Amino acid sequence: MTKFSDLKLDPKVLKAVEEAGYETPTPIQEGAIPPALEGRDVLGIAQTGTGKTASFTLPMITLLKRGRARAMMPRSLVLCPTRELAAQVAENFDTYARHTKLTKALLIGGVSFGEQDKLIGRGVDVLIATPGRLLDHFERGKLILADVKVMVVDEADRMLDMGFIPDIERIFGLTNPLVRQTLFFSATMPPEIERLTRTFLTNPARVEVARQATASETITQGVVQFKPSRKDRAASEKRGVLRDLIAAEGNDLRNAIIFCNRKVDVDVVAKSLKKHGLDAAAIHGDLDQSQRTRTLDAFRDGTLKFLVASDVAARGLDIPNVSHVFNFDVPGHAEDYVHRIGRTGRAGREGRAFTIATTPGDDKALDAIEQMIGRDVPRVDRPGRADGVKPAPPEADVDAPEGKAEARPARSRRSRSRKKADAAAPAAAPAEEATAAAVEGAPAAESATVEADRAEPEPSEAERAEPPRPQSPASGGRRSSSRGGRGRRSDDEPVVGMGDHVPDFLLRSFA
Ligand code: AMP
Repeated sequence: MTKFSDLKLDPKVLKAVEEAGYETPTPIQEGAIPPALEGRDVLGIAQTGTGKTASFTLPMITLLKRGRARAMMPRSLVLCPTRELAAQVAENFDTYARHTKLTKALLIGGVSFGEQDKLIGRGVDVLIATPGRLLDHFERGKLILADVKVMVVDEADRMLDMGFIPDIERIFGLTNPLVRQTLFFSATMPPEIERLTRTFLTNPARVEVARQATASETITQGVVQFKPSRKDRAASEKRGVLRDLIAAEGNDLRNAIIFCNRKVDVDVVAKSLKKHGLDAAAIHGDLDQSQRTRTLDAFRDGTLKFLVASDVAARGLDIPNVSHVFNFDVPGHAEDYVHRIGRTGRAGREGRAFTIATTPGDDKALDAIEQMIGRDVPRVDRPGRADGVKPAPPEADVDAPEGKAEARPARSRRSRSRKKADAAAPAAAPAEEATAAAVEGAPAAESATVEADRAEPEPSEAERAEPPRPQSPASGGRRSSSRGGRGRRSDDEPVVGMGDHVPDFLLRSFA
């Protein structure tokens, strides 16, 4: 079995890896680190949770150990689609580079330009950035990318979803291909991403790790099918179902992430939970950075119980120890289901994940999920009802007017135009448009709207009596008769496969 010490990493990096508690390299690390250290381009096809961040951070630190950064000229660049991912990479960098003298700057929206300018002005070894913010700095004449020796593109397919490909192309164009080595990571390889790699990577070592199409076997899943009594009450009744589910979990619910498909619902659900006495806060890309960081920190350190979020805000976030995930909405993209429920049951812990599906509206999306994971998600009765416990009443609230809650979020011109530009002529997006569109930090929020109105999750609470729990696949609970059958397997075995690693340092808050 390969050991970290076989990988020719710098001894200082090895020491930090050891201190992080890693024993053996993950497959993506084993595959990507050696070619990266040889100076080759790498195309890593791997998702979050596979250890991919270390697979580019460790060789990067090793490669950069010699040499010094010049003012305004970073020696390496990591591009991430969202602020949170960028912050997470920065945290990884801090961990692995702790025994070196390498310096870094994090360029993300919501942080003042002044501070960031100062750091870059002094010269940094590693620049970690979202594309929009990076281009903002470049436009202001505060940054020169000609000396970038290692460039990392992380989560390229997410960049595509968010309309950032023109920005990425532009950034590639600002670097010197004769100096630059590229480490490129994507969970999937749609044609636009293939094209990008063909254009900008030179004879890359292609390292692919198994796709995560299934969720950890430690996650108990369930879906509550729900039919609103009236269309105009659907949203508030659904929030009632959520509260019932939360209540049913009783003391087993330590904390939870609640996913909504749209930003507007993230806010509404968070407010509604708060109104009902639950300790909830929202996270999505429209919130300012300090608020997002505060909320995440509170959730990580256990002072916040319910995090309500969108897919984009939560994607890639490594928050160990989440006991529950609730899908307030069935995700429109089946693969997001696996990402969402994978926020719980990490590192071999038990987790519970429940989805609220409006019938018949969500039937198709649910089918797609079950097709993808290759099994049925057990149907469970709405807690309270089955047990004779009174379900949560519909809300009299209008935390946001129902109409508003149901409305599609406004799309930014930038997202729309980018999406269009990508679709029409992905290779030839005009630079001006890309620049104008490079609004700092906006990625998370806007991508959510571009991607068929996906939303961000939030936390929920659970302080109620114990109605019957949705069945655990393992314990073979009842299935509700509301299940529309397509002749799928009816076993309730858990699905397997995610294999997350969760080291302690990610429990620390963002600097
Ligand atoms: P990533 O895919 O980069 O988001 O990493 C997922 C998780 O795996 C993070 O919590 C990492 O700290 C952790 N991790 C990375 N490499 C290893 C390793 N070799 N052994 C154990 N955990 C790891």
